[in-house]
Amino acid sequence: MREITKLQSAVDKAYQNFRHDNSGANADYIPFLAQIDSQLCALSIVTVQGDVITAGDTQYRFALESISKVCTLALALEDYDANTIQEKIGATPTGLPFNSVMALELHGEKPLSPLVNAGAMSAASIIKAQSIEERWQRILAIQQKLGSKDIYLSDELNQSEQTTNFHNRGIAWLLYSAGYLYCDTMEACDVYTRQCSTLVTTVELATMGATIASGGKNPITQEQVLKPDNCTRILAEMTMEGMYDSSGDWAYTVGLPSKSGVGGGILTIIPGVMAIAAFSPPLDTVGNSVRGQKMITSVAKELDYNLYKCI
Ligand code: GLU
Repeated sequence: MREITKLQSAVDKAYQNFRHDNSGANADYIPFLAQIDSQLCALSIVTVQGDVITAGDTQYRFALESISKVCTLALALEDYDANTIQEKIGATPTGLPFNSVMALELHGEKPLSPLVNAGAMSAASIIKAQSIEERWQRILAIQQKLGSKDIYLSDELNQSEQTTNFHNRGIAWLLYSAGYLYCDTMEACDVYTRQCSTLVTTVELATMGATIASGGKNPITQEQVLKPDNCTRILAEMTMEGMYDSSGDWAYTVGLPSKSGVGGGILTIIPGVMAIAAFSPPLDTVGNSVRGQKMITSVAKELDYNLYKCI
């Protein structure tokens, strides 16, 4: 079978098998997310050659949420270097929920991972910028360079988050008190909240992943966005902390670096080959899209990809 036909058939099969799975529930601590149609479902692949394979609601724009942490980490690595980010933010999983205050308390307020809320605010704060607007524009620009120039901030979602993000504001002040925020405290929280409030399609999300999979070169625009070594670091972070508290189980069962968000998106990367992006709003108890996990697991098994496969 031709490679593209094989990819399309794996995507179609996964989409058809799981699009009607009705377990899980939309995130409801952000009012905007609670009212999204739970039946929406999409699955896309973008290869490092720039081939695009899709099924389902692939035109639908959903909230990037926590997956934005990957993009901001990428920019922080470009602005500094891997050792500085490890020292100033951390590079190890917390083993606790993404918004855990206890995780901070247990580690002298050091966020440890740039892929939990604390580490992501720390990463947003370390981006080189003279003003809040410059900080925000640089973070939006990296999302657009990795994914697509059409990615934009949803004012409605941003409003919904900015008026309910009191827990994150608390985390930001704890970080500030221990010296792990590198700009004004509420500036870091504001910009982090905006980075979560952009809207993407699964094709744009898979393009972000394919850019990382190819060592930093966007396969659609051909722009070299990231240094190859930084992509290696990002993939390690995604493996350790990308699927919330079930990152270990995900590595054990699927074995591919991934990042999910409470908007229902999941991005999975097969280094050097392609990225898979899934979207469907209902989440399991740790915050991962239920249909998304099932569809991606199905595609990975069907195509026989697992980073830890020996022969
Ligand atoms: N904006 C959300 C928050 O800060 C993102 C959470 C997520 O997707 O994990 O809680």
